[in-house]
Amino acid sequence: MSIDSGFVDYRALARASVQTMHPYVGGKPVEEAQRELGLTHMVKLASNENPLGPSKKVTDAVMACLSETNRYPDGNGFYLKQQLAEFYGVEPSMITLGNGSNDVLELIASAYLDQAYSAIYSEHAFVVYHLAVARAGAKAKVSPAKNYSHDLDAMLALVEENTRVIYLANPNNPTGTYFSHASLVNLLDQLPKTILVVLDEAYAEYVEKEDYPDSLTLLKKYNNLIVTKTFSKAYGLSGFRVGFSLSHPDIADMLNRVRQPFNVTLPSLVAAQAALGEQKYLEESVVMNQAGMQQLTEGLQALDIEFIESVGNFICFKPGRNATEVNNDLLRLGVIVRPVANYAMSDFLRVSIGLPAENVEFLKQLKKVLNR
Ligand SMILES: *Cc1c(COP(=O)(O)O)cnc(C)c1O
Repeated sequence: MSIDSGFVDYRALARASVQTMHPYVGGKPVEEAQRELGLTHMVKLASNENPLGPSKKVTDAVMACLSETNRYPDGNGFYLKQQLAEFYGVEPSMITLGNGSNDVLELIASAYLDQAYSAIYSEHAFVVYHLAVARAGAKAKVSPAKNYSHDLDAMLALVEENTRVIYLANPNNPTGTYFSHASLVNLLDQLPKTILVVLDEAYAEYVEKEDYPDSLTLLKKYNNLIVTKTFSKAYGLSGFRVGFSLSHPDIADMLNRVRQPFNVTLPSLVAAQAALGEQKYLEESVVMNQAGMQQLTEGLQALDIEFIESVGNFICFKPGRNATEVNNDLLRLGVIVRPVANYAMSDFLRVSIGLPAENVEFLKQLKKVLNR
């Protein structure tokens, strides 16, 4: 069927900033891959999800709340904020809840950016920064990366009079690289206090490095710092969409003005509270990730495949031949990984760490695809 637009170009009617946005490309859903390829069993290692899934405590708590879903959720997320405040040792007034931390990244742009301002983020950085900045109509200044890592000095060099926000991913997705406490302090000390520094810590729970930033301590000293976190990754709640930021209460006040009044659903609030209360499950997830990271890096080394050292729950590797073809070959063999050409890394693919058996399956099929 051809859809007649009546000779009106509806793309051209959109705001100029929206016309320049690249659509977000997510990991291929299992159902879609199965439908397209006629396969019954697939291993999805494409979206940095926790392969253990949600815990029984989470699913029980969610089931129990379903009979109340005729009511609106608490738009202020009182109990979740209470619990987060206690867990992180902050005031509830410093917390902004989001429909995933993506939402919070967008709220920051909505509240603080427009055509009059510029925002800085790094080459190869998480693509949502581009989307948020573009949608707000602000100017994006993209700093060059150094060995696929954020180069904080290069970011500092891009600061101009009207710079309002800097987005930092630590660790970054898709590269898995991180920067240290000392380098962050160095940046914060040199920046004007009118520039908001967004520190995206979506994968912080996985990081085991001594010199990883202690962002909660930094929050006390730097009022322009906004730390974002999520229940989507190590907590295993991607499907619920819950994230949040910690910031100065005045910033949180502004972010809360621009969010949708009920941006986190009732089951999601309940799920996040249950997950936060179950740190043991988180620890198990992290331990399993460490073992999986070792399994995958050793496997890649054995196949003589180059990869970027990662502190997250995923690895970017260079298959050595056309990455799009390798991706398609893996799909046909039932393994979903993530192409990262939209990150200016067209030679790479990203694989998430899965269950031990899923990691074995990935390595086995990759070996087959590459004839090694
Ligand atoms: C996955 C991810 C997020 C968060 O996603 P939500 O599910 O919206 O919380 C944020 N930043 C980075 C770098 C990510 O990879």
